[in-house]
Amino acid sequence: MHLGGEGLLAGIVCIVAAASIGVVSRFLERSRVRGLPAMTYLGLWAAAGNVLCFLFLPANAIGPAFNTAALPLGAIVFASTLISGMALVQDGRRREVIQANHMYRAVIEALPDCLNVKDAEGCFLIANPATAHLMGARNTSQLIGRTDYDFYPTDIAAEFRADEQAVCADGRPRTIEQQVRHRDGRSGWLSTLKAPLTDERGNFVGLITHNRDITELRELQAEYERQRTLLSDAMTHMADAVAMFGDDGRIVFCNERYREFFPLTADIRVPGASIQEVLLAAAERGEEKLPEGMSAQEWANKLSGNLTQAGDLRFQLADGRWLEARSRPTTDGCLVVLSDVTQSQLAEEALRSLNNHLKILADTDGLTGLVNRRGFDQALEREVRNAQRTGRPVSLLLIDLDRFKAYNDLYGHPAGDECLRAVAECLRLVLRRPLDVAARYGGEELAAVLPDTDLTGAVEVAEAFSRALRSRRLPHDASEKGRVTASVGVAMGGSSVRELLLRADEALYTAKGAGRDAVRAWRPAQRASA
Ligand code: GH3
Ligand code: MG
Ligand code: MG
Repeated sequence: MHLGGEGLLAGIVCIVAAASIGVVSRFLERSRVRGLPAMTYLGLWAAAGNVLCFLFLPANAIGPAFNTAALPLGAIVFASTLISGMALVQDGRRREVIQANHMYRAVIEALPDCLNVKDAEGCFLIANPATAHLMGARNTSQLIGRTDYDFYPTDIAAEFRADEQAVCADGRPRTIEQQVRHRDGRSGWLSTLKAPLTDERGNFVGLITHNRDITELRELQAEYERQRTLLSDAMTHMADAVAMFGDDGRIVFCNERYREFFPLTADIRVPGASIQEVLLAAAERGEEKLPEGMSAQEWANKLSGNLTQAGDLRFQLADGRWLEARSRPTTDGCLVVLSDVTQSQLAEEALRSLNNHLKILADTDGLTGLVNRRGFDQALEREVRNAQRTGRPVSLLLIDLDRFKAYNDLYGHPAGDECLRAVAECLRLVLRRPLDVAARYGGEELAAVLPDTDLTGAVEVAEAFSRALRSRRLPHDASEKGRVTASVGVAMGGSSVRELLLRADEALYTAKGAGRDAVRAWRPAQRASA
């Protein structure tokens, strides 16, 4: 362009054509359109571009130039573009292969698992650093050309070799888990994949071995098994029954003891069974006692509804055994622990009955079998308080045997005791209501507390007692009556225990004064009178 002249236009066209071809080839390169056809097209374009320049030469130059130079030049451009293009394509491919190779190598070298290839004789062709480390070699190049016999005890190496030969023989890959012993005495577990490596024509090239060190995994598995056995032994031999339920109410786990606790439904109490069917079967087979008036279905619904709530429950089986169930919720259900508490339940019951017995003994008079003074005081206190609360009447009888000192003097104390017992019996027989209390007040004095009884009723009871005693005809030669008699003071109500006692005592005094063998009631108006 600087020089100008006749060839300017042709020169510009030539430059534009070359630039366009450059752009197109760059585009093809980017789009990874490569190979012979693409390069052929490119060559044709380049040749066509060159030939095109000739058309832009001055009219007088076109003819001779075209005839002599266009075709050879086009052919040369075509051929050179094609050859250099193909060379570049090849170079690109070679670089890609090198790069891919480099990446694979980097991956394999960084792999924590052992990867190697051996030839048909078992010599290492390539190996990664993990293989060298596993085999105790200083680096991978130490392995190349050597075999397992150089690194393992002969028997182990022979085993490896036999596996490899088997893979070579049938051409099928296989995975083996094997224990290895190293020369330095270390041992471990390997999961090994052996696969034949063939070229594109299917010819055997070598044997790929991939080893993964599973020693830690194996140790964990063994530890897990040990723990599982330990737990299962503990569960089996423990004295308590254990059952775990899922949140759907089905048994997830139960120990043998759980089934032993329920022999009639042991066949049903297995993982997968629902608590509902277990309970219904237990009710139907008469293993568990149902609460009064509750159907089996209602009972099963109630218990299974409460399953996931924490709580302790003591219940008796139909065969008499007592069980205690402790439920605790877990993340996805609940855990129930059952203990046989029959022994402690029986001991508790025995203790309770002994306690009651002792309580009765503590409140009972040894001679007459009536309630003693302690029991009398408690009963009177209780009934007076009750009467004040309810507004119902309460009455008290105070009984004193007549001339009893003389009785003892005449017949002796043992006979006196016997007589007291007979009198107590009389009193017991005339008190018919269950809440009436007959007591020995002290010495030869007896008392009766009569709840819900007015003065008239109480006097009737006192008269009935006197009649009963008289009709017994217990001889008493030292008495002016000739037989054992008693004087009775009767009183009702009063603002306090003390007042009631004073009234009854006053009435008794009056009865004595009236000549003995008499009943006197305390009345506010005319004081004590019959
Ligand atoms: P009174 O008709 O005035 O009641 O004359 P009494 O002799 O019964 O007089 P008092 O009530 O004071 O009598 C008490 C006597 O009762 C004293 C004792 O000899 C006798 N006594 C008290 N407790 C017992 C006992 O447990 N056994 C016997 N055998 N006698 C008893
Ligand atoms: Mg007395
Ligand atoms: Mg007396």
